[in-house]
Amino acid sequence: MSRDITYEEQNKGYCEINGINGIKCKNYKLCKAILPDWWYECKENYLCTNCHMLFGTWGTNNGKGELEFEDILECPICLEKRLCVSYPRCNHKICISCFKKCMYFNEDGSDEQTDNIENLKKCCLCRK
Ligand SMILES: [Zn+2]
Ligand SMILES: [Zn+2]
Ligand SMILES: [Zn+2]
Repeated sequence: MSRDITYEEQNKGYCEINGINGIKCKNYKLCKAILPDWWYECKENYLCTNCHMLFGTWGTNNGKGELEFEDILECPICLEKRLCVSYPRCNHKICISCFKKCMYFNEDGSDEQTDNIENLKKCCLCRK
């Protein structure tokens, strides 16, 4: 992947936690992470560390890293029509709130790691 200036231009954001202007993580709708300007030069992607570790190719994972979002879709778990996100290793989509529960994130988006890292990334529907 080469540097994507268009993406950078269209996805500027401000990180209140770190007080910096930067670029949104590709999974911003899920992780709300803002990357510093130098990120691409260092990492050659637009994924925050969390997304890279949980959904990407880090370690033995073979996730797609960049998840797909669909604004209004009926979630197969809670049956609400909401913003949905795809799993890292298949194309099933569930809503962000169910996704966070499945991935053992907290509802507020903070990421408490659990011991069972394998379960973290499995799809509730096809177990991939
Ligand atoms: Zn991210
Ligand atoms: Zn749901
Ligand atoms: Zn699946």
